[in-house]
Amino acid sequence: MLYNSTQNNEKVVSSAQAIAQGISEDGGLFVPQSFPQFSLDDIKNMLPLSYQDRAKLVFGCYLTDFTKDEIADCVDKAYTSEKFESDNPAPLKTLEYNSNELNILELWHGPTCAFKDMALQILPHLLTKSLKKTADGTKAIILVATSGDTGKAALEGFKDVENTEILVFYPENGVSAMQKHQMNTQKGENVYVCAIKGNFDDAQTGVKKIFTDPANSEALAKNGMMFSSANSINWGRLLPQIVYYVSSYCDMVNAGKVALGDKINIVVPTGNFGNILAAYYACEMGIPVNKFICASNSNNVLTDFINTGVYNKNRDFYTTISPSMDILVSSNLERLLYKMSGNNDAVVRDLMNKLKTDGVYEVSTDIKEKILSSFYGGFCDEENTKATIKNLFDAQSYLCDTHTSVAISVYDSYVKETGDKTPTVIASTASPYKFSKAVLDAMTNEALPESEFDMVDMLYSISDTKVPTPISELKGMPTRFDNVTDKDEMKLTVFKALGIN
Ligand SMILES: *Cc1c(COP(=O)(O)O)cnc(C)c1O
Repeated sequence: MLYNSTQNNEKVVSSAQAIAQGISEDGGLFVPQSFPQFSLDDIKNMLPLSYQDRAKLVFGCYLTDFTKDEIADCVDKAYTSEKFESDNPAPLKTLEYNSNELNILELWHGPTCAFKDMALQILPHLLTKSLKKTADGTKAIILVATSGDTGKAALEGFKDVENTEILVFYPENGVSAMQKHQMNTQKGENVYVCAIKGNFDDAQTGVKKIFTDPANSEALAKNGMMFSSANSINWGRLLPQIVYYVSSYCDMVNAGKVALGDKINIVVPTGNFGNILAAYYACEMGIPVNKFICASNSNNVLTDFINTGVYNKNRDFYTTISPSMDILVSSNLERLLYKMSGNNDAVVRDLMNKLKTDGVYEVSTDIKEKILSSFYGGFCDEENTKATIKNLFDAQSYLCDTHTSVAISVYDSYVKETGDKTPTVIASTASPYKFSKAVLDAMTNEALPESEFDMVDMLYSISDTKVPTPISELKGMPTRFDNVTDKDEMKLTVFKALGIN
């Protein structure tokens, strides 16, 4: 299995190279040249397997330059019951809501209570093995700019992983108190966390600058180090997400929700388009899917794109109660455009250039129709997000977070609009306790306490749902990092932390 760049078909790399490098030099994203095929018999053989064994099969199809033992080692280290609360890291819960059945795929049982753990627990293992194959002896320096969830999930994933060091920058006033506390108490000998005086864009621009300055790479190389990326554009983050869609189909069959070979719908609360693209890739491999339902919040650039074929990021940006979906440029959409254009790198280059220069592009009628035949785009505003949390809890005593609520609400509109009763899997991307304030706002009119931990307690007393251990453990954990740096001093901070002059 080899990989191309979405912006240059001449660029061909192995999976180890794709993962170690993160992004192609031409600015394109790495994509598999073709999709491995699972027949119905192959899926049937997967039905009795554990999540971990299903994962090994899927990884094996894509990482053909890894040995079986290497893949098993990565999977077994990542998806343990200590890290994911049970042997199955992605359990499926069935609920009834507005006379529709919801099959909720809970992807937030990992160490940071968001679905990003599903990929970031395994990426460090894939990356260190990829480096061994392509640049043996080199230490990977992971630089992350975060607006909250990614930073903590990356820290947990990379902590104490041999031959890696991770440095996370976050905007001093741009993350929630809980997120700040999660990062500043991070354990591990190879981690470093620093706030910057600036917003998320400043952090991201600063990191990019450090990344792309050849002088910095040279200085690192002299010390046996290289920069690498834990961003969601890395193939090593997308691949682990394909697994849980394959696995959820097996679980749907095992639970008698569908017969083997029957189609399901998949609903995904979407920001950067990574999670829903993984579902689409699972379908390309042979998992029977009828519709991919792309759920957005008020930042509904994807809803408009799916319905009109015009992607336009020139619009107001809304800060919502589902902040991990507050995004106007969905990077992974580039991979869908590549696929839908028949792997046409020239088309993708042209569209991405238009996005860069004008902030807007329009796809051909052919691509638009192809997308519309597989995808449904919808969005949900703040009021409906809150109402759905409350209504679902009142009906089923099931508490969902704000992102999952967007997905459920959009699914509800989809069924009303189409009457489509295909059995449906809904990706649930975070624990409600990660967004206690917004969830409490939805649940009660009472005044809320000041501190995040008091809010957690209040949500627990209202809902009687389990507080995830990683969140209850945070209380009273000592702060390890209280660094704040000027946005122009980020490079110095990095070099100091790495012990390079
Ligand atoms: C990152 C994130 C999303 C969006 O996922 P994409 O892959 O970027 O589309 C949705 N919900 C939560 C809780 C997230 O952390």
